[in-house]
Amino acid sequence: MPRLVLTNARLIDAVREGVTAGASVTVEDERIVEVLDGRRSPSEQGARVIDLQGAHLLPGLWDAHVHLEWPRVPQAGVPELTAQYLANAQRALLEGGVTGLRMAGTPHFIDVALKHAFDSGQHVGPRMVTCGWFLTTTGGHALGTGFALPCDGAEGFVRVIREHIQAGVDHIKLNLTGGIMGPAWDRHWHTFFTPAEIETAFAICRQRGIKVMAHAASTEAVKAALRLGAHSVEHGYIMDDECLTLFRQHDAWYVPTLGITHLTPSQATTRWEKQWVEQRALTPDLIRRAEDAVEEHRSWFRRALAAGLKMAVGSDVRPVREGALLELGLWVKSGATPWQTLQAATKHAADVSGLGRELGTVETGKLADLIVVRDNPLDDIDNVHSLLLVIKNGRVVADHRAR
Ligand SMILES: [Zn+2]
Repeated sequence: MPRLVLTNARLIDAVREGVTAGASVTVEDERIVEVLDGRRSPSEQGARVIDLQGAHLLPGLWDAHVHLEWPRVPQAGVPELTAQYLANAQRALLEGGVTGLRMAGTPHFIDVALKHAFDSGQHVGPRMVTCGWFLTTTGGHALGTGFALPCDGAEGFVRVIREHIQAGVDHIKLNLTGGIMGPAWDRHWHTFFTPAEIETAFAICRQRGIKVMAHAASTEAVKAALRLGAHSVEHGYIMDDECLTLFRQHDAWYVPTLGITHLTPSQATTRWEKQWVEQRALTPDLIRRAEDAVEEHRSWFRRALAAGLKMAVGSDVRPVREGALLELGLWVKSGATPWQTLQAATKHAADVSGLGRELGTVETGKLADLIVVRDNPLDDIDNVHSLLLVIKNGRVVADHRAR
């Protein structure tokens, strides 16, 4: 593979706030080997040179909370799901510029298989950080999705978590509370685990040094997850000040998944939100549940942001091609700056995924997962939709400049 030189870029490196005009980035094999501002020119000899003509070069986007199914196919077996998940992950990369996915629940370890297929180059696809099944309880959350695995009793969790470790997952997803999208008996203020179940599940993960991604939608579960050593808390629709303190004390991440409560017909304002809401066609009951929860959710998002918690963009919204882009818009609508939001979807999302040393910024030595967008996302975050190029592992995998 010849060296790849990207010239005439407006660079947003996700390290220093702002745009560097006239920048160039050189990629050799899979890594960034040189980043220059406008004052110096790169060596173009023997290289493939792409003149970006002033377009914006930034790290590839991440979605740090992903389920790959869409549309839901009742009774789908492993073969159908595998084909669908592969296609959805590829679309996220090639059409959305989402170069990294942190998984939040996938049946049959299809995420582990896709990760191997993408890493080996067998298929083109995004980086995958895997968790296998969404571990819940009988009468738990997301049971209709096909990706939830009910476990009961401390021993039930021990066995399943060990099976996950053996299958090669990167983290364990524990579902501690109900959610917004569910049947009448599944409410987000309900905690599911018995004390023995939650303590044992965390203890096994701690013993094996594997991170826990905790679905915790309400105060008591958020606190329990943080005290027991969760790496990240997802959702946090209902919290209190002590939750924010515990996040800081335990140096844990918060992934707020604004899309779950903010994407309803009456709240959709942009054309992408309106399109998404229309195709999602939520039932009136689920719309009401989302809207009943949105104000409190947004207030904790704002307070977490103001408190300077470690936060990353994760959408929990399907299809994954649209999820991250919608979530970026919702962060800004809910009070984050475009810069905070972009960093949360690149540098910080790579960090929460455990890959911050290799990915998430445009810096010499990092793996070259990059995107080019025509218009400046720091002016308007929705400019992430003006996607021109996607570079994964140093290779141009999608070129939309002609469209
Ligand atoms: Zn989820």
